[in-house]
Amino acid sequence: MKVAHNFNAGPCVLPKSAIQAAIDALHDFKGTGMSVIELSHRSKEWEATMEECRALWKEILNIPEGYKVLFLGGGASMQFLYVAMNLLENKAGYLETGVWAKKAFAEAKAIGNAVKIASSSDKNFSYIPKGYEIPEDLDYFHITTNNTIYGTEIHQDMNSPVNLVADMSSDIMSRPVDVSKYALIYGGAQKNVGPAGVTFVIVREDILGKVSRYLPTMLDYRTHIKEDSMFNTPPVFSIFIMTETLKWLKNLGGLNAMYKINKEKAALLYSEIERNKMFVGTAAVEDRSIMNICFVMSEEYKDKEDAFMAFAKERGMVGIKGHRSVGGFRASTYNACPVESVKALVSCMQEFEKLNG
Ligand SMILES: *Cc1c(COP(=O)(O)O)cnc(C)c1O
Repeated sequence: MKVAHNFNAGPCVLPKSAIQAAIDALHDFKGTGMSVIELSHRSKEWEATMEECRALWKEILNIPEGYKVLFLGGGASMQFLYVAMNLLENKAGYLETGVWAKKAFAEAKAIGNAVKIASSSDKNFSYIPKGYEIPEDLDYFHITTNNTIYGTEIHQDMNSPVNLVADMSSDIMSRPVDVSKYALIYGGAQKNVGPAGVTFVIVREDILGKVSRYLPTMLDYRTHIKEDSMFNTPPVFSIFIMTETLKWLKNLGGLNAMYKINKEKAALLYSEIERNKMFVGTAAVEDRSIMNICFVMSEEYKDKEDAFMAFAKERGMVGIKGHRSVGGFRASTYNACPVESVKALVSCMQEFEKLNG
């Protein structure tokens, strides 16, 4: 079987064990004689999987009492709207660290009074703003912990005087997180915890029910809390694969073990980018992401970009083209990306330098 070195930014590489479990469950789910996508979502077999998935989230992330874990549709992009509808009464603050943060901010502005607290747009979002104050009169402060396109990341769980809301689409489960510092965490599954089609939401229940606007049933978090994410048919296949992905993560040793591996992978690649005269990183060193590693050809070798892309492709590298707003290259080294793939990319860069540098 052909195996690529998959550095796609999302959807992206998933654990082989989760893929195999999905293949098996497509044929026969838990000995029911039916496929996981054929049986009723109200069956006891399915309800057990939902419960297992919720329990894995709580255990792996060490989610405290008072929080609910939801599995919804619509992607992280739908959460941009949900958050504002459910939480914005007087004023919300947004940290602008990239395109996804801007999209979240735009939805909030359409719903009510939302203000930009700080931005890194002056340097094409290549760093995380610092030294700003979070006003105490905000209903919530919204951050994007990992900026998938620019390869920057907020590495510390921050202290916020107001409810902290985080889009963690691309670094959820990559490191231990102190959930108690957040009022709400959300993201699309397709970057670290599963395939596309399911969106996770971790919400502290006491922040809900405080807005005066009418909330349509489907856009009210309380609907989904009350029905354990089964108000309507959940995305069963995506949730199944997410469950298997979390089982893999738990068996590997959970978030402490995962974080160590992720830091090792990122260090391998960043040190090669620093060492290799043909490449240069684009993100501020102290803010660079351990999930999305962005780099370009250095000035002197700008004309070699296409050549390196072809060279890497020949050696099995997939998905290393940078986002069009940054250019160059981006290697996404999500949880399931094996260290061997990172080593293969590093070798590829070394070989290319030998031949062309
Ligand atoms: C990919 C991504 C999104 C968009 O996710 P969808 O599920 O496709 O809507 C939002 N925020 C961040 C940080 C992302 O990386």
